[in-house]
Amino acid sequence: MLTVEEARTKVLNSIMLLGVEKKPILGCLGCVLAEDVRADYDIPPFDNSQMDGYAVIAEDVAAASQSNPVTLKVVENLPAGYAPTKKIFHGKAARIMTGGMIPEGADAVVMVEDTQTDERDVKIFTPIQKGENIRFRAESINSGELVLPKGKVIRPPEMAMLATLNCVEIAVYKRPKVALISTGDELTPLGEELKPGMIRDSNRYGLYGQVLEAGCFPIDMGIAVDRVDVLEAKFRAGLKQADVLVTSGGVSVGDYDIVKDVLSKLGEIDFWKVAMKPGKPQAFGVVDGKPIFGLPGNPVSSLVVFELFVRPALLKMSGHIDIFRPTFTAIMENSIKNDSERIHYARAIIEKRNGKYYAKTTGPQGSGILLSLVLANGLIIVPVDANLKPGDEVDALLMT
Ligand code: AMP
Ligand code: MG
Repeated sequence: MLTVEEARTKVLNSIMLLGVEKKPILGCLGCVLAEDVRADYDIPPFDNSQMDGYAVIAEDVAAASQSNPVTLKVVENLPAGYAPTKKIFHGKAARIMTGGMIPEGADAVVMVEDTQTDERDVKIFTPIQKGENIRFRAESINSGELVLPKGKVIRPPEMAMLATLNCVEIAVYKRPKVALISTGDELTPLGEELKPGMIRDSNRYGLYGQVLEAGCFPIDMGIAVDRVDVLEAKFRAGLKQADVLVTSGGVSVGDYDIVKDVLSKLGEIDFWKVAMKPGKPQAFGVVDGKPIFGLPGNPVSSLVVFELFVRPALLKMSGHIDIFRPTFTAIMENSIKNDSERIHYARAIIEKRNGKYYAKTTGPQGSGILLSLVLANGLIIVPVDANLKPGDEVDALLMT
């Protein structure tokens, strides 16, 4: 049996970047930058006002006070978006709005609350420091500066920054299309009558959501019954359309081994047992550069194995550097024992209270009990032979 770390290292070592593509900015949310982005102009590009008020020469209003205001002549009105046409000399001021370009000669902006005007003149009631209320040219970014390094994940602030930098098309790493196939004679599509012995196919839906959440593109390939020709046709079709193939079911020991047989026909696939609960039996291989994951069929196993193996692999393919959920220490609020030889990824509600994380497992933890995940927001990692009691520390990760 492989440890989770060993299996994960094997998987990740064989995962390559998918490639680079140019995308319009609006399609880039969640993508990873594949090139350094530099500014090709200063930001801000000109000195501008941080307030609505009056652009003045600070020296002119040095003696201003409530009882003894300084009167200046207003020479111009400067809303945002207009270039000044007049220079400010001593005794003059320009009315200016937030974002308005500071006129030549002025060196401070008095905010409107400290002034009184009759249009032609303005009374200034307060002195001001030189430079006050001005956003100076290049105070944020200098022309030529590296702003967004390669490898950065594009979130909404990065989208806004890319727009500031006038990047219309951006080089980002491609994100994989992932074909999802459920296997099993017992699986019934939604909407159809459940015959005796049959169950709903739920894995495909959970996996679909997980692929989307990882920023990738699921392709729903439906159900394949446990027949060699059907499985093979589906698997091949999936591989053709997608960059990654994910199947569920048919990789455990007691199974009809045909899923295994068919996966083996595609290329070199490892069937391994991983020392984890749930999700011990798994298949993994790379065929024509495309990773293939054979997930176990039990509903919790399929979701947890995706979380621990497929998600980081998809993130790596998409250029992400941080591919793992952060783990942290939580304090147990109930008892949990692990007398198996496999690490137990138990489903738990993890809450932060007074700066500490607390974890409570979500009832029965069988690998078929999907409710244990529905009620949970994370996993706790219960080591082999652990007998945890309330108050004990445990490693945890949040899945939200
Ligand atoms: P298997 O790994 O194919 O032996 O399946 C293990 C268990 O998971 C069995 O109880 C299956 O009925 C169940 N199972 C397999 N595939 C699915 C699926 N797509 N949705 C829900 N349950 C499934
Ligand atoms: Mg099966």
